[in-house]
Amino acid sequence: MNIKKLVKPNIRSLSAYEAKDIACAVKLDANESPYSAPAGQPARFSVQKNFQALNRYPDPEAKALRKIIAKEFSLRPENILHGNGSDELIYYLITTFGGPVLYPVPTFSMYGIISQALGEKKIEIPLDKEFDLDLEKILTAIKKYKPKLIFLTPPNNPTGNCFSSEKILKILPLFTVHCSLVVIDEAYHPFAGDKGFTPMLKDYKNLVILRTLSKIGLAGLRVGFLLADKDIVNEVNKVRLPFNLNSLSQTIASDALKDKALIKSNIRTIIKEREKLLDELSEINGITPYPSEANFILFKTENPAKIYKGLLKKGVLVRNLSGIVKECLRVTVGTPEENRIFLRALKKCLSI
Ligand code: PMP
Repeated sequence: MNIKKLVKPNIRSLSAYEAKDIACAVKLDANESPYSAPAGQPARFSVQKNFQALNRYPDPEAKALRKIIAKEFSLRPENILHGNGSDELIYYLITTFGGPVLYPVPTFSMYGIISQALGEKKIEIPLDKEFDLDLEKILTAIKKYKPKLIFLTPPNNPTGNCFSSEKILKILPLFTVHCSLVVIDEAYHPFAGDKGFTPMLKDYKNLVILRTLSKIGLAGLRVGFLLADKDIVNEVNKVRLPFNLNSLSQTIASDALKDKALIKSNIRTIIKEREKLLDELSEINGITPYPSEANFILFKTENPAKIYKGLLKKGVLVRNLSGIVKECLRVTVGTPEENRIFLRALKKCLSI
């Protein structure tokens, strides 16, 4: 029996998201934080507190966690929806509103993968030479295809830059004419300088913001959240699986967010290290790094496959993105020691 014949055509032609488990000493491929927050003891304490409750289902509405998040953003819990990572919320958004789904490319691959899995039309608009939005092409595509959802990602993965806010502000008001929701995925916002788009939620009923704890030291918890008008939250909540966020994740995330001093100081360290890494990469002959406001740096090199393999041989894992952005690799900012090891290995690979 050929199982592929049973599979829906849109799934048959889909490639699964690649997250290979590759052994390495220095892991700089997945845009995680090199620092766990909370580290060690506080996390164990949270888990112990919850142990008695593990025979019970988690709070389906994650009330305590949503209350903390609402307070942080000066919103109400009705404006917050919790997800098992923001990936799950992207899935729920496309399930709820359907396509066409418009997004610039290159960007985070899950917008396309999920659209295809759900059989929704994808409209991919290439970024311009500076990796910024091509506003004219986007506006034309909005008029032509009337997308239900537009995903924009400042800072963008994998390019690392924030798109021009003026351009995003030209797209947002189109809701009333074309009925599109604009989803601003702020997964990497903590590493960027500006305020982001959460202050604009009160001005735009069609604005949805996605945030995650994955990049700030809690990737293993799988906690993401969506911020939006309560009418949007109510609709998306209809497709949410009842117990999507387990009790341990809810408790540890709540504890971590109650006292953000550690998370904030780790973010400051990562930003400082990113700037140092950018300076040092631009000094290396044969490497062109792109400016970044995220916790990773995209860089160009003549022979990315050779450099990727060479780095891995020396125990350093980065992401080879040359199939998506010509001749480019992406490195996550690690600890000062990890970054030093990466730079030394890179220089050696280039001199071979
Ligand atoms: N959005 C962007 C732009 C990302 O890069 C990622 C993770 N790589 C996600 C969302 C998903 O994050 P989470 O771990 O919260 O599912």
